[in-house]
Amino acid sequence: MTRPEFVSACQSAFFLNGMECTPEQAEALFDLTQRMLSVNQSMNLTAITEEIAIIFKHYVDSLMISAHIPPNTSVIDVGCGAGFPSLPLAIFRPDLRIVALDGTAKRIRYVEETASILGLENLTAISGRAEEYGIKAEFREQFDIVTARAVANLRVLCELCLPFAKVGGAMISMKSAQAEEELTEAKSCITQCGGKTRKLLPCDLKFSNDSSESRNLIIIDKKAATPKNFPRHFSKISKKPL
Ligand code: SAM
Repeated sequence: MTRPEFVSACQSAFFLNGMECTPEQAEALFDLTQRMLSVNQSMNLTAITEEIAIIFKHYVDSLMISAHIPPNTSVIDVGCGAGFPSLPLAIFRPDLRIVALDGTAKRIRYVEETASILGLENLTAISGRAEEYGIKAEFREQFDIVTARAVANLRVLCELCLPFAKVGGAMISMKSAQAEEELTEAKSCITQCGGKTRKLLPCDLKFSNDSSESRNLIIIDKKAATPKNFPRHFSKISKKPL
């Protein structure tokens, strides 16, 4: 796709999904795509390599949370991988202060360099495990919004993510199918970590007027401080989820 073709395809895809995308934002997404596909030849960043699929499955999908993030807030993207949703969010929401966290150092180096190339001063990339950063005073209960896309089952995810949220803040988990079942299973974990489910929001990803895939946002409010014993060591979280 040429740059103008990409910009036009991007604007149509966002419009179809009820979102706006300015020509400048679409241009920035074009630059991000070129960089991601070029680095992807030597590093495993994404299995989605067709530009039109990247627009829908990475960019439109990532930005579905934007409407649920209040202005001028702090966000941590736990398990950001190649920067989803954090990089598109940083392009579309210059008002946010975003931390992108991942346990894989080379992906974080890619995210950091990409943010610098794209001039995204609102994004900081950190290499580390969520269960280790969630107990550090400078990260624990410091964020208005905690988000995660395709990282773990909700029961595991809540113990990893809720410690980062301020009381009064929220966690937004991006799920495809089985969101309802996961939410039912995670009930006790949510309560134990200081959370309360606000809503499960179905928001299908539309590819055209008659083709779509199921997506869900699970929004959990942080009502009380997470007890000091959470998050536990990852082996305990995964072997014996709350
Ligand atoms: N969020 C990205 C996306 O939607 O494309 C990446 C998803 S990828 C399937 C899951 C990522 O979560 C991996 O990059 C992995 O390193 C990271 N991850 C899993 N568990 C983690 C943990 N406990 N702490 C930090 N990163 C973690």
